[in-house]
Amino acid sequence: MREVKDPVELRSRLSLARCEDRSIGLVPTMGFLHAGHLRLMEQARKENDLLVLSIFVNPTQFGAHEDLDRYPRDLDRDRQLAVEAGVDYLFAPSAAAMYPDGSEGQVIWVEPGSLAAHLCGASRPGHFRGVATVVTKLFNIVQPDRAYFGQKDAQQAIIISRMVRDLAMFVDIKIIPIVREPDGLALSSRNVYLSAEARAQATVLSRALDLARRRIQDGERNSVRLVAAMHELIAESAPLARIDYIQVADLRTLQPRHGVVDGDVLVALAVYFGSTRLIDNLVVRFEDGEARFS
Ligand code: AMP
Repeated sequence: MREVKDPVELRSRLSLARCEDRSIGLVPTMGFLHAGHLRLMEQARKENDLLVLSIFVNPTQFGAHEDLDRYPRDLDRDRQLAVEAGVDYLFAPSAAAMYPDGSEGQVIWVEPGSLAAHLCGASRPGHFRGVATVVTKLFNIVQPDRAYFGQKDAQQAIIISRMVRDLAMFVDIKIIPIVREPDGLALSSRNVYLSAEARAQATVLSRALDLARRRIQDGERNSVRLVAAMHELIAESAPLARIDYIQVADLRTLQPRHGVVDGDVLVALAVYFGSTRLIDNLVVRFEDGEARFS
């Protein structure tokens, strides 16, 4: 594995590979790797000749009062895991390399428009603009054939998929299922922030989604009742939880669905434990009255 910090160097090394017609897979991350990231890398390793892992804690996707400074980092451990995962290039640029004029000096941005108006975008203004902009930079530097994102961050995956379509970026976006702890908690670099008590209660996110799944299987088609049942479960069983949102949204537009649930929908929630914000989701596709879940 070769570690590269300079975007120009990475681009020139990869252009050689491209001349030899070798396919390139990119897995963008903020590091502090866990089994969710490893699953993305495993898939990318299978489908491409070259695997590029980027590790960059992108300042422009953090709000002023969010956890940019204390976001967990361990590049030595990540390097080791990347070698084991068969990464060819570890791209770990500095903030100055990605934002030559500083993030304040960035003038041109990629705006995700209405896709950022709801769900996490509503509580994190500017977050998805930062994500879409940094992913565009990574795509320009790496020029991957395929890029891998987790369904864990469903709104992000939907925005990136739409971005490549609307901006004619020739990158095949692959969305990988959520990797969970044995008790159901979705893996996240932020899980390390949780106290033992909060960690025990944090299973409530996946339990609320399981409840929604069961209710849908039992024939419930009203989104208001589904959301109410999830609220109730969380209030009853996780006293430390503070709900940011629970929503049933259209899977394509991300607009909230109030009323009958049909077509393709995203059931998504974000819950605070102290200052730690956890997210989880369930995709439901209705076909001929039958619900399929992922
Ligand atoms: P992050 O480092 O948190 O920005 O995540 C980097 C990528 O890994 C994103 O595409 C995430 O959606 C994905 N990811 C994070 N957690 C999980 C998980 N539990 N399962 C699958 N993918 C994940």
